[in-house]
Amino acid sequence: MNVLFFGPNGSGKGTQGAILKDKYSLPHIESGAIFRTNIKGGTALGMKAKEYIDKGELVPDDITIPMILDRLKEADCKNGWLLDGFPRNKNQAIKLDEALKAAGMSLNIVVEIILDREIAKNRIMGRRLCVNDNNHPNNIFIDAIKPNGDKCRVCGGALSTRADDQDEDAIDKRHSIYYDTATGTLASAYYFRDLAEKSSTMKYITLEGKAALPDVTAELISKL
Ligand code: AMP
Repeated sequence: MNVLFFGPNGSGKGTQGAILKDKYSLPHIESGAIFRTNIKGGTALGMKAKEYIDKGELVPDDITIPMILDRLKEADCKNGWLLDGFPRNKNQAIKLDEALKAAGMSLNIVVEIILDREIAKNRIMGRRLCVNDNNHPNNIFIDAIKPNGDKCRVCGGALSTRADDQDEDAIDKRHSIYYDTATGTLASAYYFRDLAEKSSTMKYITLEGKAALPDVTAELISKL
C-alpha cells in the first residue's frame, strides 16, 4: 500500500503517520526527518538544507525531489510506503505522479488532516520532541499529551524543541506555503484529490485535526 500524508505543521500528521506505519508495517518516510538526520550528521546535504529550514523556507526542488524519489526505490519500499512531508508544492506533486507512473506504481491512499492555521501555530510552539522517537506525542499546550515534567510521556526520554518551531516568522512562512492552494502544499494535495476523483483505486481521506488525538486516529482507521 502506498500512502501520502498531508497536514499543516502542528496537525499531528507525524503521530498519525506513525500509527499507520505500525498498523501496515510500512516505512514511514518523512522528508523533514531525513533533512534533520543529515543536519545532525553534518553532511553536505544537511548543511545546504539547514539554510532553508531555519528560515521556514522549502529546500529547493532540485535537492528534495531526487532525494525522495531515490528513497522510494530502496528495498524496504518494495511492498509499500508512507510518505509524509512530500510533496510540499505543486511541482513536487507533478514530479511524484510522473515518477510513480514511470515505475508502474500507484497511490492507494491520500490523507489530508484539516486544521485551522491559528490552532496549528499554537500546537507547533508547544510541541516537544522525544530523543527516542520524534513522533511520540508531547505538547505542553495540549492537556491530553502533556509531557511528564520535562520527560517524554511515552518513554521517559529527554525532550527538546526544534529551532524552527520556536521562531514565529519561520512558522508563518511554513504555514503560508502549506495553506497556498495555488502552488503550495494544499495545491499538491488537491492535485491528488482530483486524480482520486477519477480513480477507482485511489482514495482521498480528510480528517478533522481539531479533535483529540485518539479521535483523529479512530476517524483515520474508520475511513481507510
Ligand atoms: P517538517 O519536519 O515536515 O516540518 O520539515 C521541516 C523542514 O524541512 C521544512 O520546513 C522545509 O524547510 C524542509 N522540508 C521538508 N520537506 C520538504 C519538501 N518536501 N520540500 C522542501 N523542503 C522540505
